[in-house]
Amino acid sequence: MTEVVFVGTSDAFGAGGRRQAAVLVRMPGGTVLLDCGMTTGTGMNALGIAREEIDAILISHFHADHFGGIPQFLLATLYEDRRRRPLRIAGPPGVEARVRAASAALGHPIVDAERSHPLAFDELPTRGEAEIGPVHVTSFATRHQPDAMPHGLSIRNGSEKVVYTGDTGWFEGLPRFASGAQLFVCECTQLVRGYDFHLSHEELVEHKGAFDCGRIVLTHLGTDTASRRGKLAFETADDGMVIRV
Ligand SMILES: [Zn+2]
Ligand SMILES: [Zn+2]
Repeated sequence: MTEVVFVGTSDAFGAGGRRQAAVLVRMPGGTVLLDCGMTTGTGMNALGIAREEIDAILISHFHADHFGGIPQFLLATLYEDRRRRPLRIAGPPGVEARVRAASAALGHPIVDAERSHPLAFDELPTRGEAEIGPVHVTSFATRHQPDAMPHGLSIRNGSEKVVYTGDTGWFEGLPRFASGAQLFVCECTQLVRGYDFHLSHEELVEHKGAFDCGRIVLTHLGTDTASRRGKLAFETADDGMVIRV
């Protein structure tokens, strides 16, 4: 069984008072965190989730609301947890340099010799596949600011499959990546189409018939979508929501 906990469900700006992107996925054999926005530490503490539980952090792209929480996460594994277990951080090409640069810029550079636990980085290029902790990960390019190396993440463990878009605008291949997933976690920043690099509820309704997957849950909610919770054509995530698939 797979258990998913939505730690943060807002857009980049904390719309509706929600926390930024972070989705915890518990699968047989381990736990991964999909994205780690800047508010993730607060969310995990609020929900009683221990950092120690997480085998790997998988990053969809290099925007602060998706990976800005990693420097503090790493500081806490060192000083709060005195972690011993290995931790992996996987993401688009350049993930190690990006995380190290962000950590240094925020005042807590990663000093390998001082770490209490093994820390490894894995690059997940477009269509790349890797075994990361307990899951088999495939990544796919999405339609978002190219400088941020945007990717969606498809994770599998046995027959269980969860697909997460990260940030993306609409593109024709999207339903194919979601195909066969028991759970498809899809961003929906806007109510109506407007900004090309984010999805809208309007577009998802238009293409609803193209999705051949199980439960679809919308996240990365902007002000308009967050305020219409329960009135949309799809289920929406809330901070702290737990799903078992
Ligand atoms: Zn975002
Ligand atoms: Zn983004």
